[in-house]
Amino acid sequence: MQNAAIEAIGLAGEWSYEAIDVAPDAFERRLGEMPGEGFVGANITVPHKEAALALSDRASTDSREIGAANVLSFEPGGVAAANTDAPGFLAALPRSPTGTRALVLGAGGAARAVVWALERSGARVHIWNRTAERAAALAAEFGVASVAAEGGLPAAEFELLVNTTTVGMAGGGLEDLHLTPDSFGSTQVVVDLVYGGAETELIAASRAGGAATVDGLEVLVRQGFESLRIWTGKDPPLRVMREAARGA
Ligand code: NAP
Repeated sequence: MQNAAIEAIGLAGEWSYEAIDVAPDAFERRLGEMPGEGFVGANITVPHKEAALALSDRASTDSREIGAANVLSFEPGGVAAANTDAPGFLAALPRSPTGTRALVLGAGGAARAVVWALERSGARVHIWNRTAERAAALAAEFGVASVAAEGGLPAAEFELLVNTTTVGMAGGGLEDLHLTPDSFGSTQVVVDLVYGGAETELIAASRAGGAATVDGLEVLVRQGFESLRIWTGKDPPLRVMREAARGA
């Protein structure tokens, strides 16, 4: 996706994007080596997003409030941290979340960016999590509500549903999220952050119920678009990135 975009904006040959696998105990050392190797920046993913923020020399207000950075830029004055998971998520939504009742499933790292983005956008945010204490703690931190799932989640009460759990990544489905095929309707938007394999049960069921759906690849593309914009100062072509991400 990033290399296709780099080519499309005329930087191929000069720039390239590559995956680097780093263990947590080697993260700081590896990060320190990268500017000297010619890297201009890095996307940071699980489990390094909090460490990336902590190790940066300066950080955007967004990344500080979210508590995680997924973009680093190696600048002459040091390492700058940013978060494009939040704007990427908002950009992927088919309509504005302002004023909507939103239900976020999950309370891990991805949930932090989504809850922050929705709360900032004026949505009325509710959080459900398998471990209820984590939902309550996240809700308290961001000043939103948490909900319990006794007898199933009241999904019909929400215009926006966002799955930020890992359910659907390597198995698991609606049942693990306390949802049923009739949880969805045509007035809803359903977002599943999970991406990778086949369509998730959540996306299939919500589309069948008439909801507008956004899958994890679209959210990934949108955060990647924002990341490349930070490093290059150019607007990459979304269509090219989307087609590359989907292997089209
Ligand atoms: P994380 O911090 O490990 O959080 C995992 C969450 O999933 C927790 O809320 C956990 O609940 C919940 N969970 C795990 N197994 C569950 C189960 N069987 N039933 C119900 N809940 C379960 O992970 P993360 O970094 O937030 O990432 C979550 C997902 O988002 C991953 O699939 C990741 O790939 C995806 N993601 C996608 C994008 C994108 O651009 N599309 C960006 C970021 C993340 P407990 O608290 O109860 O353990």
